[in-house]
Amino acid sequence: MTATRVVVVGGGFAAVQFAKTLRGKLSPAECEILLFNAENHMVFHPLLADVAGASINVDAAATPLRQMLPKVGCRTDRVQRIDLAASEIVFDDGRGGLSRLHYDHVVIACGAESNLSIIPGMTEHAFAFKVMRDAIDLRQHIVSQMEQAEAANDPQRRRWHLSFIIVGAGFSGVEVAGEINELVRSSTRFYHNFRKEDVVVSLVHPKDHILPEVAPTLAEFARKKMEKAGITLILNTRAVAATHEGVELNDGRMLIGGTIVCTIGTATAPLVQYLDVPKERGRILTQPDMRVQGHANVWALGDCALIINAHDNKPSLTTGQFAERQGRQAALNLVRVLKGQPTRPFSFKALGELCSIGGYQAVAEMFGMRISGFLAWFLWRSVYLFKLPTWSRRFKVALDWTWDLLFPRDLSFLNSDRAKKFTHAYYRPGDFIQRQGDPARVFSVMEEGQAEVLVSDGPNEPEKVVAVLGKGDFFGNAALMENRPHQTSIRARTVVRLHQASSALFSEMAGSFAPLRELLANAVIRNSDELWRRLPLAKPLLDREPLVSFLDPLAGSPLRKDTTLGDATKCLGESSAGQLIVVGENNRLWGKLDRKDLYQMVARIAVIPPDKREGLTQRKLSDFLQPNPLCVTLQDSPFVAAGTMLQHGIAWLPVVRSLDDAEPVGCIREEKIVDFMLNKVASAKDDAGTSALAPTEQGLKRRAESG
Ligand SMILES: Cc1cc2nc3c(=O)[nH]c(=O)nc-3n(C[C@H](O)[C@H](O)[C@H](O)COP(=O)(O)OP(=O)(O)OC[C@H]3O[C@@H](n4cnc5c(N)ncnc54)[C@H](O)[C@@H]3O)c2cc1C
Repeated sequence: MTATRVVVVGGGFAAVQFAKTLRGKLSPAECEILLFNAENHMVFHPLLADVAGASINVDAAATPLRQMLPKVGCRTDRVQRIDLAASEIVFDDGRGGLSRLHYDHVVIACGAESNLSIIPGMTEHAFAFKVMRDAIDLRQHIVSQMEQAEAANDPQRRRWHLSFIIVGAGFSGVEVAGEINELVRSSTRFYHNFRKEDVVVSLVHPKDHILPEVAPTLAEFARKKMEKAGITLILNTRAVAATHEGVELNDGRMLIGGTIVCTIGTATAPLVQYLDVPKERGRILTQPDMRVQGHANVWALGDCALIINAHDNKPSLTTGQFAERQGRQAALNLVRVLKGQPTRPFSFKALGELCSIGGYQAVAEMFGMRISGFLAWFLWRSVYLFKLPTWSRRFKVALDWTWDLLFPRDLSFLNSDRAKKFTHAYYRPGDFIQRQGDPARVFSVMEEGQAEVLVSDGPNEPEKVVAVLGKGDFFGNAALMENRPHQTSIRARTVVRLHQASSALFSEMAGSFAPLRELLANAVIRNSDELWRRLPLAKPLLDREPLVSFLDPLAGSPLRKDTTLGDATKCLGESSAGQLIVVGENNRLWGKLDRKDLYQMVARIAVIPPDKREGLTQRKLSDFLQPNPLCVTLQDSPFVAAGTMLQHGIAWLPVVRSLDDAEPVGCIREEKIVDFMLNKVASAKDDAGTSALAPTEQGLKRRAESG
């Protein structure tokens, strides 16, 4: 008799309990169990907050799967796809290829993923709180924030380093807020530059009470205790955006803070997303025995499944408690299937809820009893100690907790390579990305949006916009290469998303990657040769004129983004200027088309295989053109338009009505500005007898500084 092969996808509460129970019931000769998990360990999520707060060591909340499941085949591989028709899984083979493996039964227990993209800027600036890496990175970051606060001379910057914002006051939000508060406040005695009172921990929640999962009396107790411990609860309020500076709230307030933790937002695991089975709100719908509808050998458990609990006929909660019970009951059902017996529906009465709130306090609702305070905290620790999967982990955690009661928390800062990271950043319209005079720390490349370059002529002179930047532009390179402060400020015009390299990573890349070095060197020459430096008189001359006096009206009606390639090229050929505007929804500016763009489109078409080029001229313009072109508004000065064209080496720019209304109203061309300047310069020479083209003393000085 050949052994039945059961493949388990996942290594969390549900998968581990399933594999353990099945192995206990069937011998390896009867059943081969192969468990595929993306990591080689199981994460015990209830202890992640303790890892972030340094009250236990990082390895205590992660248990190696092969040590927990010695008689199960454990594979550290990500399953890419399940081929339901062929009963095969497709997984990374670790050598860059994909392998297939046949199964008799497959158990999908791959959980859910965190999804920070539900709030703009969270992906770029917040810590998720789901996997071990999140907790480790957060802990390192908190300690580094304290180190930087110690070194900060500016009180505002120090406050920013010492402000921590947690979004979402469910279990994980409350627990992590309590732990961060405890770690930072209890550590202030080791620092000389700040005190407990300087620490701000804020918890933002959209409802009028925290912990919606527990009884209102317990939630109220938790609220009072947390406020007493110094945590600021911001209730009935939503986070609407996150930036480098902090979190914007729906009431318009900006919470300043250098650490943001987002505990809300989940997404369906990619494996489930592409699986062709019935789903509800991204979770796999199962039959009462946890088999997937229409597939007798496919089971789904835990957070990725929607399983009706026969105990109360409600969907099971997405908690470890439920996942573990589902794992056990599904394994028993599989044994019944193999023995030809009828299966049983999933049924479970939840045991209760426990939540630690920091400062040796917790709230608990167990077996109908409600407990709060130190006793609940003691119960919380005892229950989780008992629930840890192995004795070695129980001893480890017990030792760490005892250590934590007797000694201060560990402030060692291990992650030295973080300084060489590539990160992302998000800015709202109006946010400053860099300020003139600030030290250079990062090299930024624009991924999305438009920003403006501002320069001030002197310490007390107001900053003025001199150029506009768009997708693909970069900045920070000159200051980093020359090891000097920024000479310009950069402010977001629209929502801006950036790729950023730290100074350490930038130096390494620029030093070792010759083509990049060349590109950056050329950019420095171009940037430092800006209009206002080359022609000091250009600025006052152009600033005095309204942009509208240089405006060329739109030639004919604009193209639409769904105009076919064939029609668009015909229109371009017929246009006298050879420059056309493309509009999208509501006739707002979407793109631009000129001969340069045509060449780029041809280059793109050239890489399409010849057999796929049929009907190419009928394809939409939007398939080939880049959206969101650089543009200026009617409110900008012609100097800004000239600076932008010069900086980007382009001959014309679309003009829109305003920043809020991107209706195209015409375009501005380099020739017109040059004509105007020549006339002005010539008449200035006639009038004053001196050449306006000659750089002023101040201009020469700036040029020497930038060069
Ligand atoms: C911070 C936090 C605190 C929590 N506290 C509690 C608590 O106190 N009590 C409680 O009951 N619940 C708690 N929960 C909820 C609980 O952790 C989850 O409900 C539980 O982990 C779900 O178990 P699971 O087995 O379905 O998925 P998970 O435990 O998420 O495990 C899924 C596993 O599948 C792996 N995986 C995903 N895709 C693939 C793939 N394609 N190939 C291979 N492997 C893959 C993942 O890497 C992961 O290891 C908490 C959750 C968090 C985030």
